[in-house]
Amino acid sequence: MNDKKNYGFTTTILHNDRLKGIEHGSLHKPVHTSVAFGYADARQLASVFQGKEPGFRYGRQGNPTISALEDKVNKMEQGVGTLCFATGMGAIGAVFQGLLRAGDHVVSSSFLFGNTNSLWQTTMAQGVGVSFVDATDVANVEAAITGQTRVVFVETIANPRTQVADLQRIGELCKARGILYIVDNTMTTPYLFRPKSVGAGLVVNALTKSIGGHGNALGGSLTDTGAYDWTSFPNIYENYKKVAPAQWGLAQIRAKGLRDFGASLGPEAAHHIAVGAETLALRMERTCANAQALAEMLEADERVAAVHYPGLASHPQHGISSELFRKHGSLLSFELKDGIDCFDFLNRLKLAIPASNLGDTRTLVIPVAHTIFYEMGAERRASMGIAESLIRVSVGIEDTDDLLDDFACALEAC
Ligand SMILES: *Cc1c(COP(=O)(O)O)cnc(C)c1O
Repeated sequence: MNDKKNYGFTTTILHNDRLKGIEHGSLHKPVHTSVAFGYADARQLASVFQGKEPGFRYGRQGNPTISALEDKVNKMEQGVGTLCFATGMGAIGAVFQGLLRAGDHVVSSSFLFGNTNSLWQTTMAQGVGVSFVDATDVANVEAAITGQTRVVFVETIANPRTQVADLQRIGELCKARGILYIVDNTMTTPYLFRPKSVGAGLVVNALTKSIGGHGNALGGSLTDTGAYDWTSFPNIYENYKKVAPAQWGLAQIRAKGLRDFGASLGPEAAHHIAVGAETLALRMERTCANAQALAEMLEADERVAAVHYPGLASHPQHGISSELFRKHGSLLSFELKDGIDCFDFLNRLKLAIPASNLGDTRTLVIPVAHTIFYEMGAERRASMGIAESLIRVSVGIEDTDDLLDDFACALEAC
């Protein structure tokens, strides 16, 4: 197998390790657990430390098992470099730790993963201004930009209300203004969508979710797509300008966000995620088909007040979703009619499990306002379009009929 040919998505992931020559002809990249890496020549150790030659030094900044996963994610996103982190939040936190300074300003979608929202509150307390906007319309993003704006941050399909950001136009705006555009691709994954195609400079993936895919390992990644010109970013320290400009951002994030911040991915988790990633495309096809069928069934049910899924013609961004994404994702949310208790409904489900994760092989459900969005309070929930009865469904790969039956029976019993 050679590196040149343009293999498809799954073939590339399956065979990527082999291209680098795996130890002992092993078919999986082995799990390297050593924290330190020794050198026979002390000068070589020094030169690795000084970045003059490649190599591993201490596990917090990387290890061969992590590198193999980074390379796979990088291929999936077609980036110029990828770093892995202990969790998705570790990856997002590293951006702020590594790239922002007091006095900077960020424009963020207000339709955000709850913990990212919480992280923004922390960065605000540390002197970074954040404007939250409805990112389904580029005009709102444009109106919020100031002379201090360093980053625009959006999710592809927002969790849990499934709003789709105006991805293409925001990319054009950021390019025209020289602003770093960061897209959290967790809900779509690089199988459904590559943010690079709309000009994103950095791409976040919570590997915990669909890429790992089995709910058995936490992880996160940041990919530099090469679309952003780091020479126009004012916060790069001289130390990290010794590499090619395309690598400045990741060099600084590796040092500030990973080495100093310490949210490093463990090798065992990296192995689980790498194995899970082999079937990403197969699982996404199945979960997206299941989600579409479930969304259609729920929308037709008179006991359901609203269904939010980009694959429905009634979804406000159905057009953009159809244009940009291969399928519409595995996440949907819905509201029951007044008088139906969401806890009663959830307790009647036999297959779908009340649990707080996404992108697992099993279908998971959660009452949003009472759990993951509880801390932010009713007012902010309302501003994010989160109804008190909203139920989020992370659709799994169960047989479609079984899944539809489960929801139909639970509704019937209500
Ligand atoms: C889960 C999630 C994260 C955080 O990932 P963790 O691995 O749980 O830290 C970030 N963004 C989105 C959109 C997510 O769904």
